[in-house]
Amino acid sequence: MSGLGKGITAASIGRILKNRGYSVTAVKIDPYLNIDAGTMNPGQHGEVFILSDGGEVDLDLGNYERFLDIDLTSDHNITTGKIYRSVIEKERRGEFLGETVQIIPHITEEIKSRIRAAAHDATAGNGQADICLVEVGGTVGDIESMPFLEAVRQMRGELPDKDTLLIHVTLFPEDSMGDLKTKPTQHSVKALRELGLHAEIIVGRGERPIASQIKRKISAFCDLAQQAVISAATVPDIYQVPMEMEKEGIAEVLFQYLRLDPKSADASWYSIVSREYTSRVHVGIVSKYGVEDVYMSIKEALKHAGRALSTEVTITWLDAERYEESQLAELDGILIPGGFGPRGLDGKIGALRYARSRRIPLLGLCLGFQLAVVEFSRNVLGWEDATSAEMGQGRHVITLLPDQEGIPDLGGTMRLGNYPVNLKKDTLAMQIYGQKEIVERHRHRYEVNPACIPDLEKGGLVFSGVWKDRMEICEIPGHPFFLATQFHPEFRSRPTKPSPPFVGFVEACRARRSRR
Ligand code: GLN
Repeated sequence: MSGLGKGITAASIGRILKNRGYSVTAVKIDPYLNIDAGTMNPGQHGEVFILSDGGEVDLDLGNYERFLDIDLTSDHNITTGKIYRSVIEKERRGEFLGETVQIIPHITEEIKSRIRAAAHDATAGNGQADICLVEVGGTVGDIESMPFLEAVRQMRGELPDKDTLLIHVTLFPEDSMGDLKTKPTQHSVKALRELGLHAEIIVGRGERPIASQIKRKISAFCDLAQQAVISAATVPDIYQVPMEMEKEGIAEVLFQYLRLDPKSADASWYSIVSREYTSRVHVGIVSKYGVEDVYMSIKEALKHAGRALSTEVTITWLDAERYEESQLAELDGILIPGGFGPRGLDGKIGALRYARSRRIPLLGLCLGFQLAVVEFSRNVLGWEDATSAEMGQGRHVITLLPDQEGIPDLGGTMRLGNYPVNLKKDTLAMQIYGQKEIVERHRHRYEVNPACIPDLEKGGLVFSGVWKDRMEICEIPGHPFFLATQFHPEFRSRPTKPSPPFVGFVEACRARRSRR
């Protein structure tokens, strides 16, 4: 079922294989009808993750990129919408030569060919992958996921024996006595069998580890070895999951079944994600959403930066419409994330003003960058009615990007994905990145109004990162750390490569805390 941790499980398995010298890629299947996650409400579905090619995809692809340290493309997120769209387009072009077009074989063939294409995609990571993880989202038994599970069944039959391995992730709930229940697993295994699928490994998710007598029971009922029942209890840090699964012996089961020999033993991941914390900072994120999953990549990027600096980052989520100023006073740093629409506008501007005027470290991202410009216009330049065109009437210091005029569709039409940014000499941006040209991922429709730039600069705002005549980074000289970016650095942050703006921000938070 969704929300169980299939993505983290698959990503961790990928990491285990990668640590032994294999190249790994991943495909996420989302059985919904949307073409992609771009138009979905993040409050319900979690963050929309942005890929370097501009793909607006499920947040699990973020986990794959972070765990496997690879760059994926939109083709690695398959949805029912994408599958049906291409089959129907082929039908209209007459490519099926008069056949009746059906779920089996036409939809299932399309699914299989997309999985194969993604597995052979040489752009993902270091060339063609040795192993492709395919995560089937949704729940066994759902109508929506049937064609995908059927495609998996067919594919397993078509590929050489033992070239595919099926892992079933199930929930072991606890009863009122604190005993783990195996019934949901027994039933879902039965449901899988009815679809002609037999799992070689069962990963049991629960709040507590699965005891060996329960593993024995599952092993007997589900026709697999006891070693192939892997306990995956919830741990405080997702990056520890590969280690926990290693302790359960999953690597041996994987390598034996797939007839692979470990090529190397790279332990660098484990040393990076286990680095001890020697200090702590407290960061507040001001947004209109109360759900953490909406800003999953920001949360992870703060963690990566924190690990790199041996600093534990505690996050408080502040509701932009309700927080009290006294809450801001307790923070070592304030982060204003991306977002859309006017809800919570005043609260975000208030937090920006507080951070700027009280010299508290501030990181603004995308909408946070645009609102930093609005706040500066209102309270430094004295343009009281300054706002963004997205928010309504007033003096528009943030306007629609020229090529966004008159676009009717909302899906996939923003300025998306990788674009270069040039950094100016002797600025904070240059100092944290340490190079003149960078590439970061974008997702926006609005930008700083070119007509206002001279006044903003005269007033003391420095645009330290630009691309042609587009403003990409702003900062305030003399402030301990006030940096905002039109792009989303969080999407490129990885445990192995923390994002420079996040590292700079956490370092500034730590410096502030030590002065207090
Ligand atoms: N709503 C703003 C825009 O479209 C900011 C987008 C964002 O924060 N991702 O430009």
